[in-house]
Amino acid sequence: MKAISVLGSTGSIGTQTLEIVQEFPDQFRVVALTAGRNLPLLVEQIQRHSPEVVALADESLLKELEERLASLPADQQPQRQPELVGGPGGLNVAASWDTADLVVTGIVGCAGLLPTLAAIQAGKDLALANKETLIAAGPVVLPELKKSGSRLLPADSEHSAIFQCLQGTPWADNARLSTGVPTPGLRRIQLTASGGAFRDWAAADLEKASVADATSHPNWSMGRKITVDSASLMNKGLEVIEAHYLFGLDYDHIEIVIHPQSIIHSMIELADSSVLAQLGWPDMKLPILYCMSWPSRLVTPWRRLNLTEVGQLTFNEPDPAKYPCMQLAYAAGRAGGTMPAVLNAANEEAVAQFLEERIHFLDIPDLIETTCDRHQSDRIDQPQLDDVLAVDQWARIAVREQVDRGTRRLPLTAMAA
Ligand code: NAD
Ligand code: MG
Repeated sequence: MKAISVLGSTGSIGTQTLEIVQEFPDQFRVVALTAGRNLPLLVEQIQRHSPEVVALADESLLKELEERLASLPADQQPQRQPELVGGPGGLNVAASWDTADLVVTGIVGCAGLLPTLAAIQAGKDLALANKETLIAAGPVVLPELKKSGSRLLPADSEHSAIFQCLQGTPWADNARLSTGVPTPGLRRIQLTASGGAFRDWAAADLEKASVADATSHPNWSMGRKITVDSASLMNKGLEVIEAHYLFGLDYDHIEIVIHPQSIIHSMIELADSSVLAQLGWPDMKLPILYCMSWPSRLVTPWRRLNLTEVGQLTFNEPDPAKYPCMQLAYAAGRAGGTMPAVLNAANEEAVAQFLEERIHFLDIPDLIETTCDRHQSDRIDQPQLDDVLAVDQWARIAVREQVDRGTRRLPLTAMAA
């Protein structure tokens, strides 16, 4: 039985991970949960999974969590009372919990960095959903993996597809997993993108994009931040950087192709020109399950893919003018060092400002670009953890200052349209 810790258990990735645990009670048990602020759901999860430890990001809510658990009727108490911890230190305690075999990282944003590092330093294998951590801190995370021997299994659907395709190649030595060293025989990666909420919009119409428009994804049901990232294609740009760190390919050999049906989850081209793809319905449970069962595969009753039902698989090139975030991500990835951390933090802050309706959707790439430009002369090539944390903070403040100064390109009235 594999012992699982779920970081960000109340989110989209977290709840789907717990559904898998419930579906396979003989295979998996939950030992640690961490959450942000959603206490009602967290209490339900504690009742159902009886974890050994629970961490709350917001320490001030610990008392309330304790009271909610204490006030449960006797017949609804969890089988064991978990140790309750809070704040950044508490997240690290849960992430490095002794009995865990695998840590699923479902925290959103760079907030996942320190718990992820704590899990790696404790020698845990990871199912990486929290891509922002690797993007911001690839140069810090990869050496730590090497030191501890932890394996970083990709839960992001595209990277899972690549990882699954690589299982069949003679060169793919799993001991080299996520070392940032080029995978021998791997010539090219093609990441598929649904095209997000604005896939069928003309570039000119993006001026009318509202928060409601940007947060309705055609194919995937996910948290709000990643749904906006999908609409801007920043998600795919971030995934290019993620793929670079996971599989060691240079940026000239990682491509993006729009595939509206989201059936092919990504493709790899090998040295002999063979192209391998992994297919399935757009459902995150499969890539999460594969991290949990790897290197085995479990029998599932899940809906099986029927290509005649899908009918057509189509592909086209993304329009760089419509999706400037994609280019910004390539540029930051190529610059390397601390630049991806700045890109990521500027994006997190800009998306947060957009979700609060303080800026327009089209301001997002502008704010990121000016912030990355300003960082150019301060870029650190081989950053340490403190450098990453410092530029992360700097970039967030830089974006907020631009927003507060009202240097936005577009009038907010555009949002009311
Ligand atoms: P979400 O918003 O649904 O959930 C985020 C979780 O993190 C919640 O449990 C929340 O309480 C917790 N959290 C938020 N802020 C926190 C903080 N400051 N400190 C500690 N915990 C905090 O997000 P999601 O869609 O599940 O995405 C999680 C991660 O997985 C993201 O990095 C995303 O890019 C990645 N991912 C998600 C999907 C998907 O289908 N949802 C697919 C691929 C990758
Ligand atoms: Mg993805």
